Amino acid sequence: MLALAGKKATPFLFCWHLKVRPSVRLFLLLLFNNRLLTQQQLQRRHISPGSPCVLCSSQAFEDSLHLFFQCPFVNEVWNSIRLVLHAPPLVVSHSVGESLVSSFMALGSDARLRIWLAVTLWYVWTERNNVVFRRSPSSAAATVAKISQEALACLRWL
Ligand SMILES: [Zn+2]
Repeated sequence: MLALAGKKATPFLFCWHLKVRPSVRLFLLLLFNNRLLTQQQLQRRHISPGSPCVLCSSQAFEDSLHLFFQCPFVNEVWNSIRLVLHAPPLVVSHSVGESLVSSFMALGSDARLRIWLAVTLWYVWTERNNVVFRRSPSSAAATVAKISQEALACLRWL
């Protein structure tokens, strides 16, 4: 459980109170519940035979745990951001929900860092979708620039 204003909060309440766009909040809830339509979920629903991650050359099967916590692309993006912000690395656990909660908990109570992480994960998803649906090549540097722009806009709401 995550702390929210001194109380224990469910991931739903935690996500709901983040000062980010509603679409990012919804995305986090879907991620926590492992409901994003990754290749793993498409395969489970017999929609796709499943394929490797499109953001890296590791040939790792695309599931949410890989895409958002283990992929070299997401780690390159988060490392670029976290080194500037003095934030900890992503925490990889046995499930995507646990990894998400643990990664947010590792940030402590700093609302700014939580916004940066939420926006980072959102842009990893949009970059993945750009590659899959628009055949647009991904770049960690370009993704960091987009994240910075959005996160700084969100921080004005604090
Ligand atoms: Zn990958």
